[in-house]
Amino acid sequence: MSFNIAIDGPAGAGKSTIAKRAARELGFVYVDTGAMYRAIALGLFRSGIDVEDEGKLSEALTQIEVSIRYENGEQQVYLNEENVSGLIRTEEVSRMASVSSAKPLVRNKLTDLQRGLARRENVLMDGRDIGTVILPQAQLKIYLTASVKTRAGRRYKEYLERGEHCSLEEIEKDIEARDFNDMHRETAPLRQAEDAVLVDSSDLSVDEVVAQIVSLARERM
Ligand code: C5P
Repeated sequence: MSFNIAIDGPAGAGKSTIAKRAARELGFVYVDTGAMYRAIALGLFRSGIDVEDEGKLSEALTQIEVSIRYENGEQQVYLNEENVSGLIRTEEVSRMASVSSAKPLVRNKLTDLQRGLARRENVLMDGRDIGTVILPQAQLKIYLTASVKTRAGRRYKEYLERGEHCSLEEIEKDIEARDFNDMHRETAPLRQAEDAVLVDSSDLSVDEVVAQIVSLARERM
């Protein structure tokens, strides 16, 4: 049987950096489910439809197939046959993903793909509903969070490093809005599973968080 690790938490808590490194140390496959929601969001964005129109949304989704492949150990996400990994980290896609991921039609599309991956391999999967909905039987669940200030500060630094102009205040507002959407949607809201270990990374380094997760996983394997 495969060993599954679920890492959930709000935007900007450092999930993907930490999950990627912990997976590498453990020899697990890293599955970034946010990238799948972002790929669908990009497809919907391109279709130009109003995602609040259920009929149109349903029709647009029939034209959208998301899959993932691994190239040199890195997850690549495909929208139909196009590798969109480099196109899904924009603010536009982030905003669309936050709205479209609340739609049950969108979530249903990804459930089987995510569960199938976890059945076949030892995976470390990160997202919002992995421990609560997708892999409730995961042998280790982590709820990774950090204060809004810390998360906004990290994102601000990333933008500056990429040479993009931004305002710290706006990033903070955006993070708060995305947290609200993720936590208050009806389908699969973001919440800590009862059996998840809470890790607050506000005052911890990436190395410290990775070490904590790797050691918890080794204890349970
Ligand atoms: O984690 P990331 O920021 O890349 O996720 C993009 C969007 O996809 C988030 O805003 C969140 O609403 C959504 N998401 C989700 N469920 C997941 C992973 C991501 O609803 N398991």
